[in-house]
Amino acid sequence: MYPGRSLITPLVPITLGDHPPIWCKLEFLNPSGSTKDRIARFILEKAYREGRIKEGDLIAEASSGSTSIAMALVSAQMGFRFIAVMPEGVSAERAMMIRGYGGEIILTPKEEGIFGALREVQRLGREEGAFLPLQFENEDNARAHRVGTAHEVINQIPGGSVAAVVSGVGTGGTLVGLYEGLRDSGCNVVPIVARPINRTSFGDVECCSFSARIPGVVDRLSKIFREDRLPGLLTIEVEDDEAIAATRKIIAKGFPVGPSSGLNFCAAIEAAKRINGPIVTVFPDRMERYFTTELFSTYRS
Ligand code: PMP
Repeated sequence: MYPGRSLITPLVPITLGDHPPIWCKLEFLNPSGSTKDRIARFILEKAYREGRIKEGDLIAEASSGSTSIAMALVSAQMGFRFIAVMPEGVSAERAMMIRGYGGEIILTPKEEGIFGALREVQRLGREEGAFLPLQFENEDNARAHRVGTAHEVINQIPGGSVAAVVSGVGTGGTLVGLYEGLRDSGCNVVPIVARPINRTSFGDVECCSFSARIPGVVDRLSKIFREDRLPGLLTIEVEDDEAIAATRKIIAKGFPVGPSSGLNFCAAIEAAKRINGPIVTVFPDRMERYFTTELFSTYRS
């Protein structure tokens, strides 16, 4: 059993031009490189304390991204076996990280997408007795941010008050948890979704749709992300090209982040035009996960 410990990530004010500083939570500094360490640690430690899992037990999650990498790392530290179930076609780097932490990977048919992976995870739960964290429906996902991330922000922000919190939504755990935790601390805070859009025009007809170019931010139903939990919710749309350009600028300032950080930052700049007071956002993960993507395409020699 590892000596349970979680990190406090820095909260730093950053500007990229003519706008008020945005308070950015450097979540990419977590040990596995993303904010998902928090939910992996919170969910697995709680299940362990409550006697629902013990050393040697199997954990299974359907995620090809940060959550599986974080679950693999925390499982390695706590002595669990871990299987990540993901559709074929996932990047080699991600699979290597999971295997590096001693995790296994089961690939499901590409054409079945995430649903094939979810079905296989349910089978592992039923037939192999695996513990299933189920990040899209587990309330402990939001709770990890409510008692962890939000509490840190309140202690770090000068004046102890936040006017708005901005995040792209995958499961919604980050935005819901941060909002609820800040509200618990007495902040009158506006929750804001950063939504990546792709604008295309066909002749003179302009068409605008959710963009899948920002990994981690999905347009899928989550049981955690419910608008009735987020009174006064605003959505700020950011063009995906703009998000990627901002990500490159943030990296060039010395913060090694992935594309959703640029998305969050652009939405936070827009939020600062509408709302007075400190704006907080998150930098969810690290740039190294995106070396083979368009983010770095212009830097290849
Ligand atoms: N992973 C990454 C890399 C992200 O950028 C984001 C969005 N901020 C998420 C996950 C989504 O977080 P959550 O599941 O808490 O909504």
